Amino acid sequence: MAGIIGHEIAHASLRHVSKLYHEVMGYISNRGNGTDTTAVLLLLNNRLEEFEQDADTMGVFYTYKAGFDPNGLPDFLERHLDFLINNGIFSLLRFDSYITISVRINHLREYISTLIKQEQNSFYRK
Ligand SMILES: [Zn+2]
Repeated sequence: MAGIIGHEIAHASLRHVSKLYHEVMGYISNRGNGTDTTAVLLLLNNRLEEFEQDADTMGVFYTYKAGFDPNGLPDFLERHLDFLINNGIFSLLRFDSYITISVRINHLREYISTLIKQEQNSFYRK
């Protein structure tokens, strides 16, 4: 739970909604009437994936610094992924959604081990 709240707080503190809005509006105003809807959707999709990863990293950082188990978020994503697979929901979604969630989990596990190592190093230096 703490991990999910940390993730959502990170979206807010990184000002993701505002960034996305300005980026898309900027793109549309540059193109005028020649705006390609597919290109806008692609831009949105890429930026949303990027924002998810940023919010994951920062959310786990907040969670860890607040004294909670940083593995809460990747554990939740793993259960979520299992649920989607076991219920055949991925057949309805694009296959890259599966890759995206797996990439997020791996990325988070690596980040958490780095965080914990840094903490241990600074502890032994004191
Ligand atoms: Zn998110």
